[in-house]
Amino acid sequence: MKRSPQLDRYTQYVDRTLLDSIYQKAETLTGLHILHLNTTATGGGVAEILSALTPVTEEFGIQQTRHIIELDEQSNRFTARLVDLLQGNVPGEVSDQERRIFIKKLSEALPHPEKFQADIYYIHDFQLAPLAHLYPWMRPALWFCHIDTAHPNLNAEHYIRQYLDEYELCAFNTPISVFDDILPEKTQVITLGIDPFVPKNAPLTREQGMAALASCGIDTARPLITQVSRFGKWKNPWQVIDIYRQVKQQIPQVQVALVGAMEAADDIEASEVLHDLQNYAQNDPDIHFLYDPAQIKAQEVNAFQRYSDVVLQRSSREGFGLTVTEAMWKNQPVVGTSVTGLRAQIQHGHNGYIADDTETAAHHTCELIQNRELKQKMGQQAHEHVQQHFLLPMMILSYLDSLEKVYQHHHTQQQSNTTSAAHS
Ligand code: UDP
Repeated sequence: MKRSPQLDRYTQYVDRTLLDSIYQKAETLTGLHILHLNTTATGGGVAEILSALTPVTEEFGIQQTRHIIELDEQSNRFTARLVDLLQGNVPGEVSDQERRIFIKKLSEALPHPEKFQADIYYIHDFQLAPLAHLYPWMRPALWFCHIDTAHPNLNAEHYIRQYLDEYELCAFNTPISVFDDILPEKTQVITLGIDPFVPKNAPLTREQGMAALASCGIDTARPLITQVSRFGKWKNPWQVIDIYRQVKQQIPQVQVALVGAMEAADDIEASEVLHDLQNYAQNDPDIHFLYDPAQIKAQEVNAFQRYSDVVLQRSSREGFGLTVTEAMWKNQPVVGTSVTGLRAQIQHGHNGYIADDTETAAHHTCELIQNRELKQKMGQQAHEHVQQHFLLPMMILSYLDSLEKVYQHHHTQQQSNTTSAAHS
């Protein structure tokens, strides 16, 4: 089959046999049209995944298009509540009224099926699970849940679960997030991966990096702690400030940056969280909030992840956490928490630290600031770990695998339906 120049660039990073397996699988899928449906055009992990996958898969002749279902404020509030239930396991349930209003909105979202013809429908975002049920023409379909569903509220799981039988496959980011009661052959764990060639992850000289940090108001002569994440409550930015305050008692020159460009249209919580954090920071000039998307672009994210002294990820829930993969690729041993997605990436004491409480996380942060040799060694191990497990080719293989399963399963079923119709 025709080579993909974009994929072939990875010969410097991954085994040839992996690239060969990708080509073999892609060959059977050439010519298919995949329609991705999600709720946000930019910002967040889903946008990141799709923009990484698309250029290579298009070189294979697999056509990918994307349709954004824009939710209104009421639907976004419903989504935020559902995430609290599903991810956070907060007590409560989805009321009939909430459900009815949301389902009505979704059922009006795609009025012209003829505009959405595709070979496979790929539904991202947990809240869009009812789509396949609402639109019988949307077949075959796959639902990809990107959030942390390791410990869901059972009422919310039941609400989502009732819509899943219409899907050929349900995909999750880690094995721990897979719902218990779906048949194993109808589930798949999709390995995520980052593209090291895009401006966010590509090499950036110290000089360029320092200039980018200085342009964001950082004093580059002093130590810097950073968390790059949307301003969402499950990212727990308050603890970033708590850790910084403890570290400051030992290292008075330290500064902290909370970097989260506010561009995801569905992120209704972001401004509330930011406002709350600004109060929490009490005008401390060494606490930097960076949220303007005109200022925080790929190069700035790259600089913060690459040239901070320590990168934190304090999420209290995390489906996967691409920010951690990105920072590890840039030789950062991340100080994370024991949540689902971070446990899948960080090996405690080897390529980062898993520490839930503020004191322990502050202790490891000080250690990494003060012991350059330790940081360098663990950072190198972090980089190697990403190279071995979480680069784009691993995600492409997993993604093609999911397409193959959906396609084959759907056609086998159609054939058996035709055969039984012929025999009856
Ligand atoms: N991101 C970014 N700018 C920011 C904050 C985040 O580009 O200011 C990107 C980040 O680099 C990562 C994605 O948004 O690629 C976030 O993905 P993740 O899986 O960490 O979290 P999600 O937002 O999907 O919960």
